[in-house]
Amino acid sequence: MPRSELTIDLGAIRRNAATLLAALAGAELWAVVKANAYGHGAPEVARAALEAGATALCTATVGEALDLRPRFPETRILVMGPTADADLALAREARLELAVSDGRLPEGIPLHVKLDTGMGRYGLAELSALSADVVGLMSHLATADSDQAFAVQQIDRFLAATGQHPGFLRHIANSAAALRLPAARLDAARCGIALYGLSPFGTDPADEGLEPALAWRSRLAQVKRLEPGESTGYRRAFVASEPTWIGIVPVGYADGFRRDLAGTEVLVDGEPRRTLGVVSMDSFAVELPGELPVGTPVTLIGDGLLAEQHARVADTITYELVCGIDSRPQRARRRVLDA
Ligand SMILES: *Cc1c(COP(=O)(O)O)cnc(C)c1O
Repeated sequence: MPRSELTIDLGAIRRNAATLLAALAGAELWAVVKANAYGHGAPEVARAALEAGATALCTATVGEALDLRPRFPETRILVMGPTADADLALAREARLELAVSDGRLPEGIPLHVKLDTGMGRYGLAELSALSADVVGLMSHLATADSDQAFAVQQIDRFLAATGQHPGFLRHIANSAAALRLPAARLDAARCGIALYGLSPFGTDPADEGLEPALAWRSRLAQVKRLEPGESTGYRRAFVASEPTWIGIVPVGYADGFRRDLAGTEVLVDGEPRRTLGVVSMDSFAVELPGELPVGTPVTLIGDGLLAEQHARVADTITYELVCGIDSRPQRARRRVLDA
């Protein structure tokens, strides 16, 4: 038995891409597949998104883009992060496109000049001279999920700064803006989280017509009864006050089931059950209604249990949760459903 199994449903990715394309009303959908497609597996997600109508792939690094290039020889691949001079020759040879955020414009490779319209991170304060290599003008929104008024200010600044430079592809929207801010759509939207069926707003993705693509399941590896005064796990963080059946799930923080998920609920045989004590590196404990067989199915994410629920418990965002899941075969079995 594998310790846990990750299932990636490419049908869900395709349907989410279709939902985004409908919201984009004519703008292009560019699939953001950085960080191994937010832990979902970049090659498969990229293929599904392109099949569903996405027209480009976006990565954070040249290395991520180089991994994808052989599988997608003709696709536009935009590297959104900063590119070291040492990587320019490789990027050029692989026909990547680069976001540039300082005044230097490398030659012989398509460029997207990035403006800082309020993110306060990468980007130029204003558009300076553009070169013949520039094909796009871009910016990034800081608050599309949380403060639409500020996002609209950023869009207005972007439109004002780029208005005198016609003929370039303009793109500023992420998932939240693609779904909720029509003014941000422009020529293309760079969408990640919504493609994976996770809500950029931290709420139920079904509210946006999105469907989670990732499920994470395991099984009870041990079942035992704690007598009053007995404890489970490090630091004796849970001590039974009455006879308590517990199950040990062979997944821990090294697998991406983070320590700050202590107290969250998982599904044991389909029923929500609370986790007990601290999360160990390779396991955690869950409360059982009584004695259950070893091997009883446990769902960590999926089957109606939303990653958003865990994110609230861990005081983080689903982006960080799914990026942190370790899908290497040494830790988990990964299964791709391609229906
Ligand atoms: C990660 C990223 C995106 C995608 O954001 P989502 O909220 O996942 O849609 C878009 N643009 C840039 C520059 C990014 O770094």
